[in-house]
Amino acid sequence: MALDTIKISETLAAKWGARLGMWLEICARCGLCAKGCHFFQSDPRPEHVPAYRLKPLRQVLAAKGNISEADMAALVDTVYGTCTMCQRCTMYCPHGINIAFMVRATRALAVSVGLTPKGLASGLANALEMGNNLSITAEEYQETLDWQLEEVQEEMPEAACPVDQEGVRSMVTFHPRDIKFYPGNLYSYLKLYNAMGEDFTFTSQGWDSTNIGLFAGDDAAAGTLAGRVVAAGERLKVQRVVTAE
Ligand code: SF4
Ligand code: SF4
Repeated sequence: MALDTIKISETLAAKWGARLGMWLEICARCGLCAKGCHFFQSDPRPEHVPAYRLKPLRQVLAAKGNISEADMAALVDTVYGTCTMCQRCTMYCPHGINIAFMVRATRALAVSVGLTPKGLASGLANALEMGNNLSITAEEYQETLDWQLEEVQEEMPEAACPVDQEGVRSMVTFHPRDIKFYPGNLYSYLKLYNAMGEDFTFTSQGWDSTNIGLFAGDDAAAGTLAGRVVAAGERLKVQRVVTAE
């Protein structure tokens, strides 16, 4: 299918603002940001200098969105494949330029024409459909919590693992991989909160602490996923949400 450059232009116009314009304008290409980037530190090529991530945005701006399929493919490679949006580079930039913010804005161009990388798109679809990005069922969730509570109770017989308890101080959310791959992390959370005497609960809804919509550059999906965590916290009337990632 041909690239929908009209859609790219519309998304670019919607994303464009004073902040993006100023940052693109004032970047001195000094390269100081490279020191903060783990890509550059592990593989010090010019393409891994954080400011290089702005190249696709500059290109697409110059072309007013009317870019070739090859340039779009390069854009996708750069902004999804060479940046984790960690923001460390911003700490090293004398102007405080937020490369991650601009990478995210550039990812939105790919999202607008359905070019989100496959693995990310399927994780996002899982999150929207199943409530978590690894398609964990409610049964698997509860069984894993029960299992880890049993382990903790061998050392701390009074330990508890409340789920959907209303009116407590802290609602605990975490990465779905803790259920699927690293249940020992749940053991640690349970042991810690019980030892601290923390007034906490897990939640059966809105427990996935990752926002894969935000990472993908899909604002609508990011809003939906964040809204679920907020709704869970409001439903349980908790004072705060604790996020472990
Ligand atoms: S440190 Fe800041 S000004 Fe220098 S190249 Fe990086 S983003 Fe641009
Ligand atoms: S935000 Fe991206 S470019 Fe900046 S340090 Fe993190 S990975 Fe590197």
